[in-house]
Amino acid sequence: MKFDTTLIHGGISEDKHTGAVSVPIYQSSTFHQHELGGDPKWEYARTGNPTRNAVEKLIADLEGGVAGFAFASGSAAIHATLSLFSQGDHLVVGNDVYGGTFRLLNQVMVRQGLTFTAVDTRDLDAVAAAIQANTKALYLETPTNPLLHVSDLKALSKLAKQHNLLTIVDNTFATPFNQRPLQLGADIVVHSASKYLGGHSDLVAGLAVTNDAELAEQLGFLQNAIGAILGPQDSWLLQRGMKTLAVRMRAHEANTQAVFHYLEKQPKVATIYYPGQPGTPDYITAKTQMTGFGGMISFELQAGLDAKTFVENLKLIALAESLGSLESLIEVPAVMTHGAIPRETRLANGIQDELIRLSVGLEDINDLIADLDQAFTAL
Ligand SMILES: *Cc1c(COP(=O)(O)O)cnc(C)c1O
Repeated sequence: MKFDTTLIHGGISEDKHTGAVSVPIYQSSTFHQHELGGDPKWEYARTGNPTRNAVEKLIADLEGGVAGFAFASGSAAIHATLSLFSQGDHLVVGNDVYGGTFRLLNQVMVRQGLTFTAVDTRDLDAVAAAIQANTKALYLETPTNPLLHVSDLKALSKLAKQHNLLTIVDNTFATPFNQRPLQLGADIVVHSASKYLGGHSDLVAGLAVTNDAELAEQLGFLQNAIGAILGPQDSWLLQRGMKTLAVRMRAHEANTQAVFHYLEKQPKVATIYYPGQPGTPDYITAKTQMTGFGGMISFELQAGLDAKTFVENLKLIALAESLGSLESLIEVPAVMTHGAIPRETRLANGIQDELIRLSVGLEDINDLIADLDQAFTAL
C-alpha cells in the first residue's frame, strides 16, 4: 500500500461491529468481562481503548513499526521513552533538541540518576567521542528546531549499533510523509502529534513507535504504568487530522519553496535556514534520507533590522508558538520557544537574537508573500 492509501486505510479504519467508516469514539473507562480470569482484549481504558488503539496502529503502519503508543502530549511520549533507562545510564543527545526535552532531561531525568552529553549530531566524530561505557542511547532530532539542521540517520544509527546503543529520533518536523527513521536504522520514533500529524492547532498529543517487539513490550508497560495516555476524543481527533497528512504536507512544501525563493531575493534577509536550500550540507543529507523538505523555514534579518518590528508588522501570519498547522505561524526563538535557554548557550548553538522561524501554512501563497512583503517594506 502506498503512503497516501495507508493514511486512509491503514491502522484500524473501520468499526468491525457496525461498519462505520469513521472510527467511533469509545468513551468508556472500563469494559464488561464475561468470564472471570479470562484474557479479554479490553479491560480498563488506561491499558487500552479501541479509539486510541486505532491511532496507535495507524502511526505504527505509517512509520513502519510493530507497535505505536499514544500519549497526552509529545512531552509525555518522550518521558515514557526516556523512562526505558535507569539510574546510572548515560545518553548522547542532539545539542538543539526541543527545549522541553532539555528541560525534562535537566530538571527531571537527571534527578533520577540519568546523565547526558549534548553534541551536534551532524558531527559523527563528536557523537563517537561522547559515547561512554554506560551510554545506552543516542537521542536526536532532524531537521532541528529552529535552524533546520539535518543529521545523517543511517550513519548515526550504524554508529549507535556498533556501541549497542538505541537510536531514538524525534520525527516531529519531518513527519513520516518525508522521513521514516526506523527504515534508516533507528529503534524508536517519537512525535509531538500536536504539530503536523494533528495539523489543525486544536490538539496536544504525542506518539511513540518502535520496530522491535521487546521495546514495544517495554513501552507498552511504561505507557500503562506512568499513565499519561491520550483520551478517546483526542485520539479520534488525531487520526482524523492524520488522514490528510499527505495532501497537507505537499501543500506546505509548495508554499515553503515559494517563500524560500522570495526570501532569497529579499535584500533585507541576511541568512536563510532551510533544508531545501541547494548547496548546503543540510541539503545534501536531506536529499539522501528525506522525500521532501517540509514546511519550516528560518531566517535572519540584515544587521540593524529589528525582528520584533518585523513580526509585529505582519497582518495575516500570526505571531505564535507551535508549528505544523493550517495557518502560518511566525516566532522569534530567542524570545519565545528558546527563551529559557541561557543566552550564551543559545548563541553558541547558532540561534541569534534576530532569528525568525516561520511555519508556512496553507493560505494562498500570494497572500503570504504579500504579507511578508509589506512587513519588509515597513522595516
Ligand atoms: C512541540 C514539540 C515537542 C513537545 O510536544 P508537546 O506535544 O508540546 O508536548 C517535542 N518535540 C518537538 C520537536 C516539538 O516541536
